[in-house]
Amino acid sequence: NLGHRLEVDNPQDEIGRLAETFNDTLERLEYAFTRVRQFSADVSHELRTPLTILRGETEVGLRWAKEPEEFRELFQSNLEEINRMSKIIECLLDLSRAEEGGVKLELAEVDLGDLLEALVQQARLIDPDKGLRIAATVETAVTVRGDWLKLRQVFMNLLDNAVKYTPGGGEISVVLDTNSGMARVAVIDSGAGIPVDHLPHIFERFYRVDKARNRADGGVGLGLSLARMFVEAHGGRIEVVSEAGKGSVFTVYLPFAVGG
Ligand code: ADP
Repeated sequence: NLGHRLEVDNPQDEIGRLAETFNDTLERLEYAFTRVRQFSADVSHELRTPLTILRGETEVGLRWAKEPEEFRELFQSNLEEINRMSKIIECLLDLSRAEEGGVKLELAEVDLGDLLEALVQQARLIDPDKGLRIAATVETAVTVRGDWLKLRQVFMNLLDNAVKYTPGGGEISVVLDTNSGMARVAVIDSGAGIPVDHLPHIFERFYRVDKARNRADGGVGLGLSLARMFVEAHGGRIEVVSEAGKGSVFTVYLPFAVGG
């Protein structure tokens, strides 16, 4: 708690208005501090879990494993946890770099149709056993001026989620067109959907609708916050419409040129 709110005797006079501004600022600061505290707690928690697993497995290995095959399995599993931690740290670094200096964009002409078609091919390889039908439809060929790597990451994250959260046999489609002077990309899935009370939070760092299940899926809860940050750096926005049990639509709007 940062301190006491000021009493406002008369909100009309100058002192009263000053006091109200002060109280407002105090509230915003308190909110910001709470977010920072929550964030550190989340980071610690997210990194502690894989570390605990690593430690446990290594101890078990040292104690009991005899055959090369047993060591192989342990190393394999350790590697997965290490990769998980690297991924978390990479994402956090990206996010904090972005917050400090604003996101630095390396601008080039990006053919969104080409990019999305290539990404859909890759998305089919994420989990081929699931038998998902994944398709890209380019209604309008669109080239935007943007950062190819970052845009690629945005759509990869969305497709990755669509694959993760859509059960076997489901359908995913990516549609590119233009809408009110912007490029519009919709990533549509027929998956788990997102319950309405969770929707306002899914772009927050580490927010996951179902913590237990997503750990098994390798989810970290940072993909959407990164996606939003990169889209906004381009002067665009990202929206979601979703219904639990039916599926989700994530829509990205991008201006044809940054600042334009
Ligand atoms: P994660 O690494 O957990 O997927 P994200 O930031 O990408 O993290 O997503 C945050 C949460 O939003 C996910 O954990 C999941 O609960 C929900 N979510 C995201 N995309 C979808 C989707 N296409 N269908 C259902 N739920 C989704």
